[in-house]
Amino acid sequence: MTDTLLIVEDNEQNFYMMRFLLEKNGFSIIGAENGRKGIEMALQHRPKGILLDIQLPEMDGYEVAEELKTHEDLDHVPIIAVTSYAMVGDRERVLAAGATGYIEKPIDPDTFVAQVTAYLRNGREDGKS
Ligand code: MN
Repeated sequence: MTDTLLIVEDNEQNFYMMRFLLEKNGFSIIGAENGRKGIEMALQHRPKGILLDIQLPEMDGYEVAEELKTHEDLDHVPIIAVTSYAMVGDRERVLAAGATGYIEKPIDPDTFVAQVTAYLRNGREDGKS
């Protein structure tokens, strides 16, 4: 059975790039272009992991992560933040909101899938669950 990942991303180009790379490596991909829809899809499909853009319209990725973590049946699902924010403290903030890991944009096609796979397998790099 293939693992399904949910990508929450409002930028089409970024979405297609991530989907392409992950599908090429055997994952099945579902997508949402905003946070509200992302939460609905997560509840409906129970993905193996969630790739979450932080800069989203209306509800930002921090809010999405926090809300995902309030759903008991989703709180074990790894959230991987994917963001071009490179401000000091953003990484900490996104982990505090419940994300398992953090991948910086622009994504590197040579390492992206390995980064995702490592977060799915190992969970949080700081050891918290
Ligand atoms: Mn965005």
